[in-house]
Amino acid sequence: MSELEFYQFPCLSDNYGVLVHDPDSGDTAAIDVPDAGTVQAALDEKGWKLTHVLVTHHHFDHTQGIEELKSASGCKVIGPQAEKAKIPTLDETVSDGDRFGFGGDMVDVISTPGHTLGMINFHFRESRVVFTGDTLFAMGCGRIFEGDAQMMWDSLCKLAGLPAETVVYCGHEYTLANAKFALTVDPGNDALQKRAEEVAALRAAGKPTLPTTIGTELATNPFLRAANSEIRSHLAMKSESDAKVFAEIRHRKDNA
Ligand code: ZN
Ligand code: FE
Repeated sequence: MSELEFYQFPCLSDNYGVLVHDPDSGDTAAIDVPDAGTVQAALDEKGWKLTHVLVTHHHFDHTQGIEELKSASGCKVIGPQAEKAKIPTLDETVSDGDRFGFGGDMVDVISTPGHTLGMINFHFRESRVVFTGDTLFAMGCGRIFEGDAQMMWDSLCKLAGLPAETVVYCGHEYTLANAKFALTVDPGNDALQKRAEEVAALRAAGKPTLPTTIGTELATNPFLRAANSEIRSHLAMKSESDAKVFAEIRHRKDNA
């Protein structure tokens, strides 16, 4: 059995598209479809035929290209049960704890509400890859549009509990701005300072800063580090709950 191939490419102004390909069966999944033309061009470039779309959440910049690709390819569209009414192209719905096969791998569905209430993430267990949509970003997390801070914190904790070597693909290239903000709440973090320099160099060279890993995020992403004592002293929140510290960091980012 061959390993799955993952191919990431930029879409729209700051989204990413990703294709997952199984060389044995030829099955190919797009994770969200920010833009039909760009995803189709990536498929053509690879010589892959679209068989599945896995949808993380209902926002337009993740779903707008689905209908066009579906009618062109007849692919199966799998997405969140809780957002069925908002994503009319869904053929199959899944929710937290569901599991389905793709290629030789098993995909675990992890519900991560907060950015939207029905957001789901896809964990390819054997491949050790997770697609976090707009829940977890490199050194950042999604804005809380539909849920609340406690909900988003609980969602991020689920992702933080995945094995450290898990590769993380997310919906947007927000890394440079996230790094700048992260340094304002976690200025003494050496790993963060080093990474901020690395991502600045990557962006200056026009290169992506993603994917990342759970281990890298645990070391540098302030939104996963609400329990960290240096961040807590910096925020003067030594005895608050982790969710409260997280909420304060999210609030500061929203107003940065
Ligand atoms: Zn979104
Ligand atoms: Fe988005």
